[in-house]
Amino acid sequence: MADKRRVEKAIKMATDAHEGQYRKSGDAYISHPLAVMKIVEDWGMDEDTIIAAVLHDTVEDTDVTLDDIKKEFGEQVAFLVDGVTKLSNARSGMRDIDTYLPETKDNLLRLLIAMGADIRVLIIKLADRLHNLRTLSALPPEKQRKIAKESLEVFAPLADRLNMGRLRVEMADIAFSYVNPARFRKLQELIEEYNKSAATALKKVRKEVAEALGREKIKFTIDGRVKSVYSLHKKLAKHNQNMGEIYDLTALRVIVNDITDCYLALGVIHSLYTPMSGRIKDYIAVPKQNGYQSIHTTVITKDKRIIEFQIRTKEMHEYAERGLAASFYYNEQKLTENYRTGKIQHLPTSLLWITELQNTAAKLRTGKKVDMRKLKLNLFADKIFVYTPKGDIIDLPKGALPLDFAYRLHSEIGEHVSGVKINGKMSNLNKKLEHGDVVEILTSKKQTAKESWFDKIFTSHARQKLRQQLSKKWNG
Ligand code: MN
Repeated sequence: MADKRRVEKAIKMATDAHEGQYRKSGDAYISHPLAVMKIVEDWGMDEDTIIAAVLHDTVEDTDVTLDDIKKEFGEQVAFLVDGVTKLSNARSGMRDIDTYLPETKDNLLRLLIAMGADIRVLIIKLADRLHNLRTLSALPPEKQRKIAKESLEVFAPLADRLNMGRLRVEMADIAFSYVNPARFRKLQELIEEYNKSAATALKKVRKEVAEALGREKIKFTIDGRVKSVYSLHKKLAKHNQNMGEIYDLTALRVIVNDITDCYLALGVIHSLYTPMSGRIKDYIAVPKQNGYQSIHTTVITKDKRIIEFQIRTKEMHEYAERGLAASFYYNEQKLTENYRTGKIQHLPTSLLWITELQNTAAKLRTGKKVDMRKLKLNLFADKIFVYTPKGDIIDLPKGALPLDFAYRLHSEIGEHVSGVKINGKMSNLNKKLEHGDVVEILTSKKQTAKESWFDKIFTSHARQKLRQQLSKKWNG
């Protein structure tokens, strides 16, 4: 339980400090830190985080200093506010954080390093971003697009990586509605139409499943989960825009008491309907990388409807919705210094990369040399980050080859590749790039695109460029 008086005092300090400041919407500025505080409170965060949340913009935007905060609320709160402030600075490319990572100007990486200071900094930052998204309509269009795009590219994947499902969905959908409003509305309508047309059938299925589970004396709750607009958008892109291949527009979620009941419920559902082969995914036995657990199965009902079921325990459900924040909540007793660098015991193994980042950040802060190539950034599991010799960061999908890298730099560089050095050594074009590689492309004017390169390319982007270059060569 939060100490009411301490929180009240923080609210007063923030209110006084932001006095006379207004948001673009015309609201008093304090409405923003108060909303951010409410969000982390709802996530079940600890008292220091709640206090730091309401103070998060004071050091940057008002006369309040870190020392004032330290004096009133102690070192922990000051540390958190400082972290959030540094993170904003990192994003606008200003002082301080530059010294963390002299090698690169890449904001994303700096953001990750900075957040490594304390995960709670990141949680406040996510809440800050969520509220800014919720109130995005007040900003000019250009800023809206910038913030929305960044949210889609950095913050929503981050929320996903922390298994904060509810947050990811809200962020991604708001952001997508600004990035591509027409597409957003179109897909939203599609989802609504589908739900209307499927409503009666779903109701029947729910009833059948409920009765069957009841007969087996399995305690459960069941509800429908509607796919978010943005995840539908992404899935359609993967399936050539073919709606016929999307089976999980509406899924039915069955929540039971324990793991045994999960498998019993799966059996019950499969005895009612025909499971589609290859579409049973047991994320209980093998959790997703972000710790997500559930059994998914897609079945065909008697009247030939295709429905996805997701079966999980209450704890798994809570964790899927609130992710990292949920594990804080469950471990409130341990809320001490342990949150600080490297001592986090209660994080699920799937989130241990955070500890890794923290350790790296701690080294960087104390001026120790860090071998950037060893820095494992598994935040975006399907991506690798490789470096140009100058330290620019290029992100590529896992599996990418040197030619993909070359074409990504510039199609002309791709066209004239004569060789590649990886981490300073000559290498061949079949060599899969690994996270952290420093890649130097050698070019020669005499060398031009070759058909045999199709075998040495992984990304569709490079393939497309190569095709263009070859057809030019042949036709003219
Ligand atoms: Mn803010």
